[in-house]
Amino acid sequence: MSSKPCHKSQKNKNIKFYLKMSIKKKFTLFDQIVGQEKALNYLKEIVTRRSFSHAYIFYGPIGSGKKLTALSFIALLNCSKRGCGVCDSCKQIMNKSFSDLLMVEPKGNYILVDDIREIRNKLSLKSYSGKVRGVIIDEADLMTEEASNALLKTLEEPQLNTVFILITSRPNRILSTINSRCQAINFTSISRDEVEKQLLDKLEIEPQIAKFLSRLNNYNFYRAKEIVSDGKSLEIRDQILGILTKIYDSDDTQKIEFASKVMNIMDKMSTDEIDKQMTEKLNIWKNFALSPKHFSKVRGEIDEEKRRALKRKTLLRANWVMDIISSWYRDILLLKYELNNKLITNMDYYKNLIEIKEKIEIKKLINILSEIQYIRNLMDININLPLAMETLFLKLGG
Ligand SMILES: [Zn+2]
Repeated sequence: MSSKPCHKSQKNKNIKFYLKMSIKKKFTLFDQIVGQEKALNYLKEIVTRRSFSHAYIFYGPIGSGKKLTALSFIALLNCSKRGCGVCDSCKQIMNKSFSDLLMVEPKGNYILVDDIREIRNKLSLKSYSGKVRGVIIDEADLMTEEASNALLKTLEEPQLNTVFILITSRPNRILSTINSRCQAINFTSISRDEVEKQLLDKLEIEPQIAKFLSRLNNYNFYRAKEIVSDGKSLEIRDQILGILTKIYDSDDTQKIEFASKVMNIMDKMSTDEIDKQMTEKLNIWKNFALSPKHFSKVRGEIDEEKRRALKRKTLLRANWVMDIISSWYRDILLLKYELNNKLITNMDYYKNLIEIKEKIEIKKLINILSEIQYIRNLMDININLPLAMETLFLKLGG
């Protein structure tokens, strides 16, 4: 495909258009969860009463906001302003860098007994914040039998001010003895149209961007709002889609150049905010530390928090890039099968999608999508991302 003659003016127009986007009002954390009134009302009541059970199971379909609700609930229990979303503990909990938040997520296909043992060990130490400790076990149905039994033992010895939240879309695969020790909270599925409507109602964004964000796989209102408010992610989407419209007709050298361009784009996504937050924190402690020894202990903790926040941010960026790439090839596949256009994510690039659809085979598309999935699975563990990106880009196109 040849590059568009109006490319430059188009780009300028887009930048202006992103500046126009903003958030209409301030939200508390629960305001950002769409379509789960029943579950939220129940949890709000618990927060008001301040008497929570020590274990919950949040169950319901994928993408219904279970994990977001679990994080928000723990934030609510720790925030003096009922989950304001802007105080230190709210922010740290939502970006999973809070020292009293323990997350268990499957590594590969399972949650192993060692992951549960690690939690038990951490819980035996004193809490950092002295507030409510949260343990979230995501995709809890992937615990091995050994891991399940270890968890059962932990649940049988409840600890003060500690709350376990198990998240699952397959509750029947969890040991019944664990199920009976947890209070179950049901989440219902939310349609993409509903998310789109909420985005348009609550954020000042163009309809085509609301459509794009609501059609992305596994994106809820909260994640979409983060994308809009960071001011960079949508620009990055344009840059990456610009590359993807050209890559089909490129040779291998160009493909490798494109891969390194994408890596550069990712590196430029800013970590300034994390740096600023941590420096501020350190400066405050400079005045309040009780002794040099105390200060050095605090500095160690802040360094650790920063390390976790940076790691998280790197993963978020990589995921965003992969989300964009996979949405692109998924769209082309949908067009190939002539399915309903309503499912298409990148409707604002419809013309480009149609052009590429004519050139690419279904078999190739399926290969590309499974390669993307393969990289995603590895990303959670550990991966040489530049190398993986090169391998992927060599497979894109003809
Ligand atoms: Zn707060």
